[in-house]
Amino acid sequence: MTDNRYDVIIIGTGAGGGTLAYHLAPSGRRILILERGDYVPREKANWDPQVVNVDAHYNAKESWLDKDGKDLHPHTNYYVGGNTKFYGAALFRLRKEDFGELRHHGGISPAWPISYDDLEPYYTQAENLYQVHGNRGEDPTEPPANSPYPWPAISHEPRIQQLSDDFTHSGLKPFHVPVGVMLDEKNPHKSRCIRCNTCDGFACLVGAKSDAQVVCIDEAIKHSNVTLLTNSLVKRLETDSSGREVKSVVVERDGSLETYSADVVVVSCGAINSAALLLRSANDKHPRGLANSSDIVGRHYMGHTNSVMMAISKCPNPTIFQKTLGVNDFYFGSRDFEYPMGHISFVGKLDAITLKAGAPAIAPNFTLELMAKHSLDFWLTSEDLPDPNNRVTIGRDGKIVLTYTPNNLEAHERLQGKLKQAMKQTNCAVHGHECHQGLFGRNLYVGQRIPLAGVAHQNGTIRFGHDPKTSVLDANCKAHDVDNLYVVDGSFFPSSAAVNPALTIMANALRVGDHLMKRLGVSETTYEQNRQQDRELAVSR
Ligand SMILES: Cc1cc2nc3c(=O)[nH]c(=O)nc-3n(C[C@H](O)[C@H](O)[C@H](O)COP(=O)(O)OP(=O)(O)OC[C@H]3O[C@@H](n4cnc5c(N)ncnc54)[C@H](O)[C@@H]3O)c2cc1C
Ligand code: SF4
Repeated sequence: MTDNRYDVIIIGTGAGGGTLAYHLAPSGRRILILERGDYVPREKANWDPQVVNVDAHYNAKESWLDKDGKDLHPHTNYYVGGNTKFYGAALFRLRKEDFGELRHHGGISPAWPISYDDLEPYYTQAENLYQVHGNRGEDPTEPPANSPYPWPAISHEPRIQQLSDDFTHSGLKPFHVPVGVMLDEKNPHKSRCIRCNTCDGFACLVGAKSDAQVVCIDEAIKHSNVTLLTNSLVKRLETDSSGREVKSVVVERDGSLETYSADVVVVSCGAINSAALLLRSANDKHPRGLANSSDIVGRHYMGHTNSVMMAISKCPNPTIFQKTLGVNDFYFGSRDFEYPMGHISFVGKLDAITLKAGAPAIAPNFTLELMAKHSLDFWLTSEDLPDPNNRVTIGRDGKIVLTYTPNNLEAHERLQGKLKQAMKQTNCAVHGHECHQGLFGRNLYVGQRIPLAGVAHQNGTIRFGHDPKTSVLDANCKAHDVDNLYVVDGSFFPSSAAVNPALTIMANALRVGDHLMKRLGVSETTYEQNRQQDRELAVSR
């Protein structure tokens, strides 16, 4: 065995790769984690809206192409922890029905090869691991769960509580959004999280967000059998002569190429980069790209139809941590629209600096500063459907090309209409129904909907399924065409549902981890002993 030989190689440290690394670490097997980025530097700028939202300082410094060959600057992040370093940590389970076939206005959302019940125990594990704060029983669409959330929900601040009460009076069932931040409201002096206004979209300067670096990678690399190499860009995967096995992982590091090999290779670069890596790894046995006999790799790209809607009120909104309230009453449809519409919640509180970066239509008699002080900043998500023509390909100079035509848009327009209606029904004690000046689409970048560059919720490009003709991965997320290749990031989704994707990626990584443990012959006793030792070490530290 050479130094470059491992039992498992994991490529990428985000929600998928990071969680899998954490889960496999106590196995005692030699694990190599390869991450193209470095750690997010800890600096005051982490929490500076100008640096983060306007200068896009922490965004990936590369350009892709859209279907017309125009440069596309993706809003994505290459760091240890992947995009979870910057996420809003709203950690939702998909609905039970999302795992079956669902008819939408724009077409069919296909069934998954596993059921909700298959994933349920792993959702519970992921919620515990990522310290999710929530209250069961409030969300009218929530799926059955075998245990409560590990932490109580994050409380609403007064303006959001008032909105929640208003919504309840008008017949809706608002709920507390499940969030993964390390806030202890009962013991604020001990709480790691300080409940600040720079969470969603920002890295946490005090390490109190449950992201994949803090929760998973930092823990995994405490094990002597786990090695993390940062600034290590995986360029290609090479197979043996049969084409059935990944034989080497080619990595660019410090300006030169190195190769590593392992019994099992797990790709988790995010749905777009993972597809690109497989396509770039084409060889004689895999002429259309690695594991791509089906010609499915890169296809069915989904990213949700998202928009930010600002509701401007006469009353100010001094909320600091705004992402606490959600509305799912229209998730599966309503009396006047029988198709699913999606999910309503909040983004982090918008400020004038951030607004300037994509100035919204100005409310009459308001400046941007005033708008920011008076707005409730909603985040709307609708399901986009898997279209084989929405895809990742490799274009000129080896650049990623993202081709996407939005679909199922009627659902999103209806959802926006429902929010407008709900806001009209609120009745402020000071200004009555006149409190709300209206809803304004925030041009986060260009246009009211989040544009193509907003790839935060990317998924679907390497879908799993039972049929090798219509899917790339089997139900264990192993490539049908290659015996030692797995994918555990958001690529595996056959449909995108309409809640945020990260918890499902994490839960699935834990599920695949259990499968890999069996494949690697790890005994449960050894694993549990190692875990127990970890706990004891953690207590003694
Ligand atoms: C601003 C923002 C807010 C969000 N808010 C939420 C939210 O509230 N709730 C939610 O559920 N989701 C949210 N998301 C989405 C969530 O972050 C993603 O769904 C999740 O991180 C995806 O996990 P992943 O493992 O698929 O990929 P990622 O987390 O993107 O991880 C991929 C990793 O692979 C690395 N990599 C890529 N290519 C290579 C290569 N060739 N070689 C080596 N390494 C490579 C990357 O650097 C990265 O570390 C948000 C995202 C953003 C950007
Ligand atoms: S301190 Fe809390 S609210 Fe602020 S960024 Fe960190 S986790 Fe988010």
